[in-house]
Amino acid sequence: MSDPVVIVGAGLAAGAAVQTLRQEGEDGPIVLLGAEPHLPYERPPLSKEYLRGETDAEALPLHPTGSYEEWGVDARTGVRATALDVGDRTVELEGGDSLRYRILLLATGGRARVIGAEPSERVCYLRTVEDADRLRSHLGGGKHLLVVGAGFIGCEVAASARGLGTEVTMIERGPAPLNRVLGEGMGRVLAEIHREHGVDLRLETGMGEVRETDGGVVVETDHGEALEGDAVVIGAGIIPNTELAEAAGLEVENGIAVDARCATAADGVFAAGDVASHDHPVFGRIRVEHFDNALKMGAHVAGAMLGSEDPFDDPHWFWSDQYDVNLQMGGFAATWDEIVIRGSVEDRDFTAFYLQDGSVRSVLSIGRPRDVRRGMRLIKAGVRPDVDALRDDDVDIASLLPG
Ligand code: FAD
Repeated sequence: MSDPVVIVGAGLAAGAAVQTLRQEGEDGPIVLLGAEPHLPYERPPLSKEYLRGETDAEALPLHPTGSYEEWGVDARTGVRATALDVGDRTVELEGGDSLRYRILLLATGGRARVIGAEPSERVCYLRTVEDADRLRSHLGGGKHLLVVGAGFIGCEVAASARGLGTEVTMIERGPAPLNRVLGEGMGRVLAEIHREHGVDLRLETGMGEVRETDGGVVVETDHGEALEGDAVVIGAGIIPNTELAEAAGLEVENGIAVDARCATAADGVFAAGDVASHDHPVFGRIRVEHFDNALKMGAHVAGAMLGSEDPFDDPHWFWSDQYDVNLQMGGFAATWDEIVIRGSVEDRDFTAFYLQDGSVRSVLSIGRPRDVRRGMRLIKAGVRPDVDALRDDDVDIASLLPG
């Protein structure tokens, strides 16, 4: 029998890849290796419905129970790959075993960036279902949660915690929540939303020392305050799990470097999901940390593993739920020179188009998901739309696409 396809990391990208490999006709052995004690599961609910206790762990798996057996996949959970030899085509496993591979996918995702204090019962980070369970025990009426960092994780946890009646103090080093992704102006809209929901949001406030006390935590700020709470959650982004690839001599550039198809420079070795630094045909080299990307890239890389030369050119899309606000964003813009608004920011019913040199690079909306879908078509087509038409609610966005 031929050597198996080996997939390291049993997360979303891996799960999507396995499913697509079987659907696209791969009928040889497939081994899925996951360090967590779970088959691939969805992380977005961990800061939302699951954290609030509205859904349970049974709602998290990416695929129905029994799918991996049905697909004839040797899915091994609680098994970490510890080394990789791309010359010998072998992967070493924790415990000393090793596996030869025919084709390898690295879908090792990322881990929460630990800053200021190691994780403990009261110092929480949020990446896994176990992290969410620990954090959940600190939420509810009469409890006070400190949140460090008003990025996606911080903002969503703050909103869920407020929904459960928790007192919340959130500190953010930058001038607005999600400043890096949305820009300060749009971020200010989110700041207002959090404050209206009772979050004590302190902007331009960095974290100093974090101390555990009898029954609580103290977070010092760089303004010299000592904030007291029952627990703290630190949302400082993720670190891509690139160690295996790096030690094997693969190129790592803020993630495992892959070409437009999601292949590394090593023969038969691919990477996808949060860990992949992808050469995107529209945006250049980017690493994306979103659910939709993990699923689509996971499915795409399966095609590449089977020989497809097609580039992965998805324009990228993500959402975030905070209170009753559904925010959606398509595209990718690290910088922009103009933001064009359609609708009313005041009424929180608007779409913001981020333009660079006249081209739409990303589109953000609150309450207008359809605009985002249409905006993504403008991005993919590389359109330089008429700005007045873009701003005008009466102009159909689709009409701005080339004939
Ligand atoms: P991961 O899901 O990180 O999976 C990688 C897996 O590989 C992990 O299980 C890891 O343990 C395993 N692994 C790592 N190294 C090894 C090794 N050496 N051997 C074996 N296994 C290994 N995105 C959105 O678009 N919208 C949202 O609202 C949203 N909400 C989120 C909320 C939370 C709380 C979190 C944590 C993330 C959220 N995301 C959201 C992001 C989204 O979940 C990620 O982009 C997605 O999980 C990435 O999938 P992945 O398969 O690349 O990596």
